[in-house]
Amino acid sequence: MIPSEYIISKINQYTKRPIKIRHRNAYNFECPICNEGKSSGKKRRGYYDIDKGYVYCHNCNRGWDPIKWIQDVCQMSYKEVLAEAKDFGYTVNDYINTRSEKTKKVDFGTLPDDSINLLERTQVNYYSNELVVQACLNAIQQRRLNKAVNRPKSFWVSLKDKVHKNRLVIPFYDDDNQIRFYQTRAIMPEDLKDDRPKYLSKLNADKRIYGMNNIDPDLEHIFIFEGPIDSMFTKNGIAICGTNLTEIQEQLLRKYSLYQHIWVLDNQFMDKAGREKTLDLIEQGARVFIWPKDIIQFKDLNDVCVKYQLDQISNKFIVDNSFTGQEAKDKLSVK
Ligand SMILES: [Zn+2]
Repeated sequence: MIPSEYIISKINQYTKRPIKIRHRNAYNFECPICNEGKSSGKKRRGYYDIDKGYVYCHNCNRGWDPIKWIQDVCQMSYKEVLAEAKDFGYTVNDYINTRSEKTKKVDFGTLPDDSINLLERTQVNYYSNELVVQACLNAIQQRRLNKAVNRPKSFWVSLKDKVHKNRLVIPFYDDDNQIRFYQTRAIMPEDLKDDRPKYLSKLNADKRIYGMNNIDPDLEHIFIFEGPIDSMFTKNGIAICGTNLTEIQEQLLRKYSLYQHIWVLDNQFMDKAGREKTLDLIEQGARVFIWPKDIIQFKDLNDVCVKYQLDQISNKFIVDNSFTGQEAKDKLSVK
């Protein structure tokens, strides 16, 4: 790893309002990559975890290896970053190690290090004394992820991955049934604190789309969700980890251009960001699900399913509450 002092010097130089988080080996700052949109100047959505050695932005909703982050923020090449890091005690040996690591492993692997398959009985039995494994299994059960109609074929946990350890791993299968991406969700109480990312994406990887392997060609809709957990409860639900499609996700979605696309965001009457994004989508001509009165007290569809013990939200229910244009705006303006 390159020295944290060097990374911190870059944070101090290139970001607004950086602060060391009290009682934690980490920094918060305004993310210079997205400038944090509407929360600019108010929040600090950038995060640097010194021990784990990664940088994260809650607004970009993505993580970086620190070297890559410095490259992006400071417009430097990989070599330039390493050369500068030398001044902070980065040795030639470190350089050689990093270089061979880099040639060996450009991809960080399909899943976090030594992941345990939580749906495999023998593996789970072997680790049954591990608190983390128990906590993940409980979360799966409590959030009804093991029953959800559009669930993935597997759930995982790693007990030692540098970045993703002790978190529930949700695999993203492409339509060829291969895992090409994953997101991890905080499970343990110490990871569920406000200043820590609840969701983390696979580092240094292009975001892909959750649920592509489950798409039923006989249905006429595709439902686009922010996060995979909500999308697990609707047939032909997919998730894009955020509210903006990346170029690659747009490319992947083109395969499904014959389906009608409906956006399903978190409750617009509770979540300001969801409301703003909904308005953007309406302006772009998209069809969006507007949260109906009878479930207005819930934040997201997973909460609805937990409360009423449902394995799915019917496609008809979503379609019937989806609108475009002026009609959508009108629905959004009455509470
Ligand atoms: Zn950002």
